Amino acid sequence: MNSIRENLRNIAIIAHVDHGKTTLVDVMLRQSGIFRENEQVQERVMDSNDLERERGITILAKNTAVCYKDTKINIVDTPGHADFGGEVERILKMVDGVLLLVDAFDGPMPQTRFVLRKALQLNLKPIVVINKIDRPEARPMEVIDEVLELFIELGADDEQLEFPVVYASARDGYANLELNDGGTNLEPLFETILKNVPAPKGSSDEPLQLLVSSIDYDEYVGRIAIGRVERGTIKVGQQAVTCRIDGSLFNMRISRLYMFEGLRRAEANEATFGDIVAVSGVGDITIGETICDVDCPEALPFIEIDEPTIN
Ligand code: GDP
Repeated sequence: MNSIRENLRNIAIIAHVDHGKTTLVDVMLRQSGIFRENEQVQERVMDSNDLERERGITILAKNTAVCYKDTKINIVDTPGHADFGGEVERILKMVDGVLLLVDAFDGPMPQTRFVLRKALQLNLKPIVVINKIDRPEARPMEVIDEVLELFIELGADDEQLEFPVVYASARDGYANLELNDGGTNLEPLFETILKNVPAPKGSSDEPLQLLVSSIDYDEYVGRIAIGRVERGTIKVGQQAVTCRIDGSLFNMRISRLYMFEGLRRAEANEATFGDIVAVSGVGDITIGETICDVDCPEALPFIEIDEPTIN
């Protein structure tokens, strides 16, 4: 029987470097109440990777989850650079909505184009977040026109062109639906996400299907597969089968299951359709393979890795 996960949303944030993605996720985390009073935010999470710092671009996809009221919002990070075309597509397949974050002075920049195009092709309806409205030289209205032009140029359909707009200062921790609303927190942004990003729909009784979108390693549990449960339910201890890219099947047992909670991975006993999970006990599984019910090995379409495209 199909049902809707009303209390879950899966989103990605698309932004040109320096437009404020890290700052925004930081403040979403703080305002989601995940950090207790005396717990310090050690470092900004989304750019904790050394390589990333070195190159100034986001390389690894990292996941975060925030809570707003009773709803969990999974935020998956997308690489903003065209060199990671295939990866962008895989990441965007996990989500039902995207925030397009644009600097209120700089306007849309080349790095946002590529990812936005992918998002539009995947039929996602972006929410446009005009960030840094506190900047004295900010020109938000012109920037919205530029964003609209970009949508048109990239072939957005009518629904996509009616994008909701949120004005924000990630630095100061507020968002507004109107430019000069005098907001004090991110509530308008959270509300816009809940209203515009569809909750996952599906069935928990059907045979499991989980598409592996990224791979991670942990020194204790080894290889970890990260992906969205597309169908059914996954449980710790469950016998499952991987549909491999070469067409073969690999039997295994789900040894551990994690879901995202703030900046951490929290162990869980079970997860269902719509959840983004990390799974161990998966052998040498790779990206694009499908973890399935042992009696129903049906692979999800393999996501092709594009050649790097610069545009
Ligand atoms: P990222 O590369 O998209 O992750 O961008 P960061 O979050 O690292 O932000 C880049 C720079 O912009 C940093 O110096 C931030 O402090 C600054 N910044 C981020 N959000 C705002 C904002 O709302 N207003 C202002 N004035 N600066 C901001």
